[in-house]
Amino acid sequence: MTAIAAAPTATPFAWRESGLTPLPWFPFTVAASRSHAAAAALVAQRAERAYWYLRRLLGFTPRFRLLVLDAADWPRFAAPSSAPPPFGVAHFTAGGHLIVGATPAEAWHDVAAHLAAHLPPRALRELVRVHGRDHAHPPGPDLTAVADTLIAHEVAHVIAEQAGATFPRRWLAEAFANYALVAVLAETDPAGLHRLGTLAEAARALAPAAIGEDALDVAGAADPVASVVAQLTLTRGVYEAYADAHTRPLVRWFDAAREDRPAPDADRELGRMLARDVHAAVGRLAARFGAGRVCIARAA
Ligand SMILES: [Zn+2]
Repeated sequence: MTAIAAAPTATPFAWRESGLTPLPWFPFTVAASRSHAAAAALVAQRAERAYWYLRRLLGFTPRFRLLVLDAADWPRFAAPSSAPPPFGVAHFTAGGHLIVGATPAEAWHDVAAHLAAHLPPRALRELVRVHGRDHAHPPGPDLTAVADTLIAHEVAHVIAEQAGATFPRRWLAEAFANYALVAVLAETDPAGLHRLGTLAEAARALAPAAIGEDALDVAGAADPVASVVAQLTLTRGVYEAYADAHTRPLVRWFDAAREDRPAPDADRELGRMLARDVHAAVGRLAARFGAGRVCIARAA
């Protein structure tokens, strides 16, 4: 697949109409809700690290604007405007805007409560030791810091989309973004990778044997707990590939996904193809996330 849309960021950002504050000196435009410039700067720095690392690794330069918004500004920019994702759910719009919340999505507290209710006591204790306590559900872990690291996952989606990379299943688009996230954190934020890793290990006890693709509908339709568990299951799978072969499978995957080759319908065949083209650990995920319908995933 080689078709690439005209750069959505070709026209200047309408600063005056936006009412947003510019944050200068980033390699992409950054606009923030007025009272959240400090939080936005931290998000932008993380996005910038992901940008430079993935740009060099994958040899592709994405074009986007980063909008860091509070709940009041969110509905004005979140897309589609007819059904905007809930506040804090990061997404990339057709207009070239990577939209993220100035504070984490409320759903993280639901995830913390779910972990507190369902994890074995020892696993929960260990998680709270690493992450601290959630302020809304103190028995559960505070997942704010993990939420902050996920901007690299979104930057990877932007790169895949703009580079014309296609994935024969939705879960593969998510697995690719999680592989990029692991690679970025390993290089730029080892403590962040450790936090993500402890969460992914804990989530193993909660993940069903077969995970439907509907769990990955991140546009607000999916159950947030099921969505996070599914993403963490993918993260653990791609981490195995990273631990074994570093970033080589990720680069191979990126190149293969841009070739527009037909993918098999059968999950078993798909698993074999992934094992051959990417890594055996990614191939094994096909059995877990199987039985999804074939679609060209253009993840949000
Ligand atoms: Zn995603």
